[in-house]
Amino acid sequence: MFEQIPDMAAKRAELSPNSVAFHDTASERDWSFAQINSAANAVAAGLTGQGLVQDDRVGILCQNCAEFFITLFACQKTGIILCPLNWRQPASELIETLEQVGVSLLLTDAEFQEVATKTAIGVGAPLLTIETDLSGWIKAGGPDVADPIPSDRPWYLLFTSGTTGLPKSVIQTAGMSWANTINIGQAIDVASTDRTACFLPLFHTAGINLYTLPVFLSGGTTTILPKFDPEEVRDLLASGRINQFFAVPAVYQALSLAPWIDDLDWSNIRCGCGGAPLAEPLIQFFAQRGVKVLNGMGMTETGPTVFLMDPAHAEQKIGSVGKPQSLTQVRLCGVPDGTKGVGELQIKGPGVTPGYFGNPEATAKSFSADGWLKTGDVARRDADGYYFIVDRIKDMYISGGENVYPAEVERVLHSHPAILEAAVIGVHDEKWGEVGAAFILPRPEETLDVESLRPWCRERLAGYKVPAHVKLVQDFSRTAAGKIRKPDLLETFGND
Ligand code: ATP
Ligand code: MG
Repeated sequence: MFEQIPDMAAKRAELSPNSVAFHDTASERDWSFAQINSAANAVAAGLTGQGLVQDDRVGILCQNCAEFFITLFACQKTGIILCPLNWRQPASELIETLEQVGVSLLLTDAEFQEVATKTAIGVGAPLLTIETDLSGWIKAGGPDVADPIPSDRPWYLLFTSGTTGLPKSVIQTAGMSWANTINIGQAIDVASTDRTACFLPLFHTAGINLYTLPVFLSGGTTTILPKFDPEEVRDLLASGRINQFFAVPAVYQALSLAPWIDDLDWSNIRCGCGGAPLAEPLIQFFAQRGVKVLNGMGMTETGPTVFLMDPAHAEQKIGSVGKPQSLTQVRLCGVPDGTKGVGELQIKGPGVTPGYFGNPEATAKSFSADGWLKTGDVARRDADGYYFIVDRIKDMYISGGENVYPAEVERVLHSHPAILEAAVIGVHDEKWGEVGAAFILPRPEETLDVESLRPWCRERLAGYKVPAHVKLVQDFSRTAAGKIRKPDLLETFGND
């Protein structure tokens, strides 16, 4: 879109030096834009002082904190590529991840020092800490750096959620972040008066880009929590410190189960959601409390925002992810199940990644010959131009020659009053080729009569879509973004 864009921290320090960019709850510290930029200059000097140059990779394993963003901006200034690491992974997995990426340095905080030490030894990289080394650099300061940034230069790497297989390392650029900021900003009017919260993990795109960077680039304030904790989010909402936040469906579900949910005043809060299907009962639950949870769809590969629901139509179009946003083009291709208006969602625009880091084969496989990102998602567009995510192509199964999208069956199960969450997969069957197996997490306060499920589904679905197997579970194996890992369900089914 643009060849070059200004250094983000330096530009904000020029535009609104004294406004608060971040409030960090762990250290109870406010950081102004000018302080963030000075600290980023200092960390840039610190990193180059370690011998790092453009395109070198630095791993970072830490809870959410202002220093993470300072390091991110330092990387933008130097062209060093930041690689945020998933703190839910043990050292053995982190080592495997880092071997793919090849890091020259590892940064950590006191919380993860032990696993970081093992990881650093495993990959043979030096380990520095935020509390000692980074803080020392920030105190020492560094020369101003404010060179323009090539908008397509790799800035940081983010791993996909790993919902369908091994996570893939996606190149993120400053251009992608600006495209996301425009997409979000135009849809929900992000302004310098906005106050958002950052509690989703920073090793996924939502933690960084929904809505922290858009709010930062607009001159607003972000309150950073070390991680998601329902009580801390309650306190944040009650404090009036924030006027908007983004969360994944698993967070809304956790909030809906909290005993204090009805004590909160939501009247001045804008709520966004995405990353996984948002069950209708959850939308209704919050709607009954006067909260519009606006659904949206995005991917690590798309910076992430693609679709967003507009508040004016949220109630008429429940289940929709809205329309493609300002800088996004979409098309439906291939019509996987032969139904009119349904096809693989493909995306183009400045928010789309240049590719997977060090993996040209995966990159080539994910783009069409004419340059569109093949999402692997099946979507539908209605007559008013609103889009609905049908399901992932990978999750579809074929029963007696008929295509079944598990998400449709899951929606019917979610509407059952005694079901909190359900996941459906296709499993091998002698007679039908594949049949559905439903894994059900009952509502804690309800008694679920498993026998009632078949007639419940039969009334609402064609016979071939009704799951042949039902298993009750106490929880699901999930990704860090709270998504259910379906490959793990298949394995459990096989082992039963
Ligand atoms: P992996 O690519 O490693 O299997 P992942 O696709 O879950 O993991 P992400 O990039 O975090 O990794 O998620 C993007 C995917 O999440 C989309 O391709 C889509 O399948 C799903 N998704 C995102 N938002 C929504 C939504 N609002 N409704 C339904 N599905 C969604
Ligand atoms: Mg994916």
